[in-house]
Amino acid sequence: MPFSERVKGMRPSSTLALVELASKLQQEGHKVISLAVGEPDFTTPSNVIEAAYRAMKDGETHYTPPLGIPELREKIAQKYREENKVNISAENVMVTPAKMAIFIAITSLVNPGDEVLIPDPGWVSYPEMVNFAQGKNVEYKLDEEKNFRIDLEDLQEKVSRKSKVLLINSPSNPTGGILTYEDLKVIRDIVVDNRLTLISDEIYEKIIYEGEHISPGVFEDLLPYTIIVNGFSKSHAMTGWRIGYLIAPSEFIPQLAKVQQHTISCAPSMAQYAALKALEEKESIKKMVTEFRRRRDFVYEELSKIDRIRVNKPKATFYVFPRYEFPIPSKELAERILKEKFVAVTPGSSFGKNGEMHFRISFATSMENLQEGIKRLREFFSSR
Ligand code: GLU
Repeated sequence: MPFSERVKGMRPSSTLALVELASKLQQEGHKVISLAVGEPDFTTPSNVIEAAYRAMKDGETHYTPPLGIPELREKIAQKYREENKVNISAENVMVTPAKMAIFIAITSLVNPGDEVLIPDPGWVSYPEMVNFAQGKNVEYKLDEEKNFRIDLEDLQEKVSRKSKVLLINSPSNPTGGILTYEDLKVIRDIVVDNRLTLISDEIYEKIIYEGEHISPGVFEDLLPYTIIVNGFSKSHAMTGWRIGYLIAPSEFIPQLAKVQQHTISCAPSMAQYAALKALEEKESIKKMVTEFRRRRDFVYEELSKIDRIRVNKPKATFYVFPRYEFPIPSKELAERILKEKFVAVTPGSSFGKNGEMHFRISFATSMENLQEGIKRLREFFSSR
């Protein structure tokens, strides 16, 4: 095969692979309940769709400036200033899909052999992106006993002379944990003392049930070391639009922009106009989060009743990450659950070593699906 070692070594995204497998089984006539992929089951708010439609009708179907349309960059900066108390302006913003933003940040910063500190358990694509950049993944632990807070001592110990980037994700996929102000203070010290670059993935910012989201950008002395990544996929049910952004020190932007220019050129023009409208949305987010909370409570309570499962109540996101108590690896567990009960869950090992003996459930699906899915999980676990 003619492929590069970097691509051959890459593992497929298990969050997305399961969507494929579940849809294949569905086509074969099985009633599959998918609790695998993390995307809101809601449709994008209709005024957002209309804004994109109007923009297209008005001829906004061309390239935009690589960094994004000026009015969107301005509005994103305003959002971060007002909602997140992060002191930035439009020149700090580059509009790009959020996954792309992380990819651009990692590939722009990491030289071969540089160490990148990533959360374990953590989202499946971080280590693959680091590998692609020929960096070295150094996993730091999220402590299940402390509701998946970062084990700060472990993090401190993992910092070395080769550390280049620290990546944090709060609220966290897959654990649903949130970093506190106190956690962020320690993180600030680690980043500033060691002159690391912090990548803060804040994509689940709006999906919170307890506690609050604090961006590390609130620390003035940390901001010159920080790249914030956020987007509209989760907050506004806009996964298909591929629209998000990064916020970085202004002197970083020309470097990051080069990667954007030579890959996707710019984010989709119509999606940028949709995002402009989305930033005015408050009500639809509130409704969505109220519904997610109802589902979270249901899923948590029902899972807690199943023997051989231990579950932390997520404070945020639409994921629960239960630990199961019998001795098969999580990949095998997920396969068995899918083949025997036609329920798709994501194996915990996809999220790192500390994710083993767990599985992830996404409750971003209808209550009806959740009821049926959990019923089947109960049958599965009680037949062991
Ligand atoms: N981030 C979501 C998940 O973890 C969507 C799929 C992906 O981008 O990985 O399921």
